[in-house]
Amino acid sequence: MTDKEDFIRHTGTDTRAVRGGQRRTMEREHSEALFLTSSYVFESAADMAATFSGEVEGNVYSRYTNPTVRNFEERLALMEGGDAAVATSSGMAAILSVCMSLLQAGEHIVASRSIFGSTTNLFTKYLEKFGVPVTFVALTDLSAWEAAIQPNTKLFFLESPSNPLAEVADISAVSAVARQHGIVSVVDNCFCTPALQKPLALGADLVVHSATKYIDGQGRAMGGAVVGSFAHIADIVGFLRTAGPTMSPFNAWVFLKGLETLSLRMRAHSSSAQYLAEWLEQHPKVERVYYTGLKSHPQHKLAAQQMRGFGGVVGFEVTGGQDAAWRLIDATQLLSITANLGDAKTTITHPATTTHGKLSDQQRDDAGIKPGLVRIAVGLEDVDDIQADLIRGLEAV
Ligand SMILES: *Cc1c(COP(=O)(O)O)cnc(C)c1O
Repeated sequence: MTDKEDFIRHTGTDTRAVRGGQRRTMEREHSEALFLTSSYVFESAADMAATFSGEVEGNVYSRYTNPTVRNFEERLALMEGGDAAVATSSGMAAILSVCMSLLQAGEHIVASRSIFGSTTNLFTKYLEKFGVPVTFVALTDLSAWEAAIQPNTKLFFLESPSNPLAEVADISAVSAVARQHGIVSVVDNCFCTPALQKPLALGADLVVHSATKYIDGQGRAMGGAVVGSFAHIADIVGFLRTAGPTMSPFNAWVFLKGLETLSLRMRAHSSSAQYLAEWLEQHPKVERVYYTGLKSHPQHKLAAQQMRGFGGVVGFEVTGGQDAAWRLIDATQLLSITANLGDAKTTITHPATTTHGKLSDQQRDDAGIKPGLVRIAVGLEDVDDIQADLIRGLEAV
């Protein structure tokens, strides 16, 4: 480690977000360079042989390493407080890469029931096919996590707060149970980002991200990452280099610049979401609001302990079920009707007929997804304008 790198390691998260991981080229560029190159050239045959053998460190091919991607990885690792990070082509590629490198046939996963839909599918449709079964448990029920452990359990997987009902896991407690049993704990930190929550500091072994969401922050590029110890990341890098779901340098550059404003943006998302959640909670046509920043949230204290802000996603149930929810959504003029989140533009969605649409009525009921539930991912517009749009929507209910 150079003196400069060591210096950055001892600065605050926001400083690392702006300064971390940059190695200037001979051109002395101020902003981070974008290396759009698939391969690299050598001085001589001997030089090439030495680099290929690993005797000399250097780039060979961008499926293995790329300077822009490495810059993003180092910056994110510094922000999450991990030894190292590896970037992937999407959030799902990050989760797949964790599974492919850490698990083998005959091993077992325990996962929260409230995880991203594609993650559930990955576990049940594909990993089970290769002999890795999964047991789902309630995110907040610590004894259920412990009870689900089998002698072959290798991985715990969770998201906190959950989407869209904002349930909170006690990350320290769940990670401690995992550690006692030699199980690797993985937290999908997509909704919080390191600006709001640092699962590794709470005891988790690995953090996974969909960089597509808040890390980008403007809905432009797909990407993901895994952060953790040198040993775990080396394993995962091995899979990625071979199988190939690596991050494109262009996307890495977008995310790298996204990290610089991440903390400011998360503060703005959180403060507007807090304002709207408090207002919605008082609204006569709103039955219930799901947001960890509300004092009425059953786990508000725990959330306040392990998070530095409550994020931009707010769920609320309107009176009148699906009809009312759809009328509300259709009456908005500003909000984008889309399932995506983590964008500067506020989005609105109806979980029961979209993200949770494939579930049976019974499964949806068990998951707590009511027909009247609406989810907004609060963006960076003037909060008064977002509120005015929601007022328009609620008038149509
Ligand atoms: C979007 C998302 C993913 C998957 O990320 P992609 O970049 O779309 O592959 C995983 N987890 C959570 C919580 C997400 O919101």
